[in-house]
Amino acid sequence: MKNLFVLLLSTFALISCNQAQSTKASGEMSKDDKSEMVTKGPFYDLQGNVLNKVEKTEEEWKAQLTAEQFNVLREDGTERSFTSPLLNEKQEGVFTCGACSLPLFTSETKFKSGTGWPSFYQPINKTNVGDVVDSRYGMRRVEVECNRCGSHLGHVFEDGPEPTGLRSCINGVSLGFEAVKLKDVDEKAKKP
Ligand SMILES: [Zn+2]
Repeated sequence: MKNLFVLLLSTFALISCNQAQSTKASGEMSKDDKSEMVTKGPFYDLQGNVLNKVEKTEEEWKAQLTAEQFNVLREDGTERSFTSPLLNEKQEGVFTCGACSLPLFTSETKFKSGTGWPSFYQPINKTNVGDVVDSRYGMRRVEVECNRCGSHLGHVFEDGPEPTGLRSCINGVSLGFEAVKLKDVDEKAKKP
């Protein structure tokens, strides 16, 4: 009887293992798979200087960020809609990561989504932001995070405007803003 139990147990383990493998083969990332993520970097600032990856302990982040920034950027929180001053930022410039200052989006790709969160149809550089599948709360959503420091920015949905059809819905508290002429941004920083 005991042997049968062991046999059943190992069969079950085998099935679970296969399921895990087939999920991985689909190419989607889960929150636990962050280490296997796609291309990250190289990263450039607006002048075209190379930026190193940023790795800090959560204690270090806590000391650097405000409580609200820490909750959103490091604990995947969401700010209340219509509260960010950046929602109505109309100047020409670049939106940067609120944790590590990496350039993330430009004023050119910002659009009015009506959701109450700053929305963009395309990042300034494809290698600067990463998509991670977020299946919590019973919904399948794709999380957007900063590839330089791993901070949470928001979510991306497939109901955005042309030319990409994507809507990156970003917490304003996760962003900084630099008013610059986009023509003055170094070409290396841009990779749409
Ligand atoms: Zn960052």
